[in-house]
Amino acid sequence: GRNKGCSVWTKSDVVASLPEREPFSHKGSHGKGLVIGGSIQMPGSVTMTSRAALRAGAGLLTVATVSKVISILASSVTEATFIPLEEQEGRISSVEGIEFGYDGVAIGMGMGRHREGKELLEKVLKLSESPVLIDADGLYALKGYLSEVKSRSYPTIITPHPGEMAHLLDVSIPELLEKPFHYSRQFASRYGVHVVLKGAFTLVTTPDEKQWVHTTGNVGLAKGGSGDVLAGMLLAMVMQPQTVELALNNGVWLHGSTADLLTEQAHSTYDLLATDLIDGLSKTYRTI
Ligand code: AMP
Ligand code: MG
Repeated sequence: GRNKGCSVWTKSDVVASLPEREPFSHKGSHGKGLVIGGSIQMPGSVTMTSRAALRAGAGLLTVATVSKVISILASSVTEATFIPLEEQEGRISSVEGIEFGYDGVAIGMGMGRHREGKELLEKVLKLSESPVLIDADGLYALKGYLSEVKSRSYPTIITPHPGEMAHLLDVSIPELLEKPFHYSRQFASRYGVHVVLKGAFTLVTTPDEKQWVHTTGNVGLAKGGSGDVLAGMLLAMVMQPQTVELALNNGVWLHGSTADLLTEQAHSTYDLLATDLIDGLSKTYRTI
């Protein structure tokens, strides 16, 4: 039968596979990314995703969100450009106005769980000629559209925490946590998606059922915003010249290792904030 073995992604894997910044590259060589999300109720998550993507190495970044969120973001995500989207009750109601020529797209953070979500996601998955990463509220929108995801000709990535994964699978959280390896593989191959199942240990599974486990990160990450930061780091990684599976493993490792470095050197697991991870990423990069 198939080898269902699973290995731990280590620092030496990162050192061996993280693409170098070529001295003659330009911003276009490091990927043009798009973040779609945010709402007037939740402007922070998309801010963190965007800043994390830029810190992780994205060449260019655009944020598509409702205009009130743009006014909130503009000063904290100075390096990004913006696309104002139509809104209803402070939430994105249309993706009209986006021209899909990006190297990677992340959707869902702080977007809200409104009825239009499914339609928005469907358009983004159809029109994007690049990897699409779906997180947070985007995963709730995805549930109504799962059967069509497999026909995409570009990679689709989901980054659920156990609650979101259990919802997608229609199982309870305890059932999921009893067999996380099994459920991740089953879901990844059934729907042709890359699954990053987050938790104290994070599992990365490819559509062809290759699987890695991550042991970096600590309980300091058990706080709102950690996942939004991870989504930004992963977006930046998938836009670099490396395969999606390397990108996801390297991104999860960078995120967890930054938490580990920060709780050893500067913070405790009590006070660590998601935004500290964004600024702390430089410490991790300097070790590899
Ligand atoms: P989210 O729930 O979407 O904010 O994502 C939480 C992030 O923090 C994921 O990357 C998790 O893997 C990580 N995380 C949460 N709790 C822990 C923990 N106890 N130990 C290590 N990592 C954690
Ligand atoms: Mg989350």
